[in-house]
Amino acid sequence: MVISKNMEKLVAGSSTIRKLFEEGIQMAQEVGAENVYDFSLGNPASPVPHEIRDSIENILDNTDGNIVHGYMKNAGYDEVRKAVADSLNRKNGTSYSADDIIMTCGAAGAMNCVFRSLLNAEDEVITFAPFFGEYRSYVANYGGNLVVVPADTKTFQLNLDAIRPLINEKTRCVIINNPNNPSGVIYTEDTLKKLNDILTEAEKEIGHPIYVLADEPYRELVYGDQTVPYIPNIIRNSIFLYSFSKTLSLPGERIGYMAVSKDIDYYDEMISALVVANRCLGYINAPSLFQLVVAQCLDIPANLEFYDRNRKLLYNKLTSLGFEVVHPDGAFYMLIKSPTPEEDDFVAMGKKYHIILVPAKSFGCPGYVRLAYCVSHDMIERSLPAFEKLAAEYYNK
Ligand code: PLP
Repeated sequence: MVISKNMEKLVAGSSTIRKLFEEGIQMAQEVGAENVYDFSLGNPASPVPHEIRDSIENILDNTDGNIVHGYMKNAGYDEVRKAVADSLNRKNGTSYSADDIIMTCGAAGAMNCVFRSLLNAEDEVITFAPFFGEYRSYVANYGGNLVVVPADTKTFQLNLDAIRPLINEKTRCVIINNPNNPSGVIYTEDTLKKLNDILTEAEKEIGHPIYVLADEPYRELVYGDQTVPYIPNIIRNSIFLYSFSKTLSLPGERIGYMAVSKDIDYYDEMISALVVANRCLGYINAPSLFQLVVAQCLDIPANLEFYDRNRKLLYNKLTSLGFEVVHPDGAFYMLIKSPTPEEDDFVAMGKKYHIILVPAKSFGCPGYVRLAYCVSHDMIERSLPAFEKLAAEYYNK
């Protein structure tokens, strides 16, 4: 084998969604793209807001090209970081300054910088199931181990009873993804306060900080009158990670940021490490043009209506057909409980009707499947008869 042992494992483990994606393409060739209902990917279908194009044109027309396309500080343009800090302060009552913001290649780039900064070999990162499966690879990149708190499948809130025994001297951080991919659940302020109590107590015992990474690319994708608590206001040792991938439909542009409050333990060391990590991992800096673009678009709202229509139509239809669905209040995913004990069988049955779903064991939540409803409304409408046939395989027989 030429590739490293670590990489061998990652390649073997990363095949599920890729395989599903390829099967979808194959299916489309056989039965026509309009007859395949692919709910596998979190690629936002809501149109890119027109303000993005306006802003690109405005920047290209009015700013020196060597600035727009040049290197800048590894943390990003000062004026962009100031705009981000001001926007966070307005929205959350925080007191960030430009120094506390590091522009990154999406939330994924941000998380890699944190793990590069914090982890020694065999250190542990805790996350709560269900969780975004890529965390496994990001932690493994630096020789760390991802420790998974099993899901509380009654509420899908954080399973607080199960976390304390998993914390030990090797624990360096805990990832919280709110609203959650894949469940669509929003963790409440009460849950987060209880987590804070547990972590504060544990920090005293183990004698070093446990940083909380608030991974929040879906922060603005929240329906009805729900709100998402701002974790750094509840848990002092938090680092806030944000991405414009989902809210502004820009996943390919790789743009996001980290916000590190001056209150965290070892602030100076942490900021310096994160900035150097951005450079030494080869990102160097977040994409220059899109830093300038997002700085002008910080207050553009997400197209909630686009996803809410999809959410309501699917949730109502699936539950009326007999499926048990975790009620989604945020993001653009929902979890369906597999009507058979082995969710792979359910996924296979879905494929019979050209519906592509993802087994949730890849999110640490066996027995469920994930459906991403960030697709066109038209595709959802066309898929409904297929869901009826799928339901008939299990219910009302
Ligand atoms: N975190 C979660 C929970 C996600 O669902 C995703 C993408 O799907 C990411 C992080 C990575 O997003 P980005 O495109 O900002 O790197």
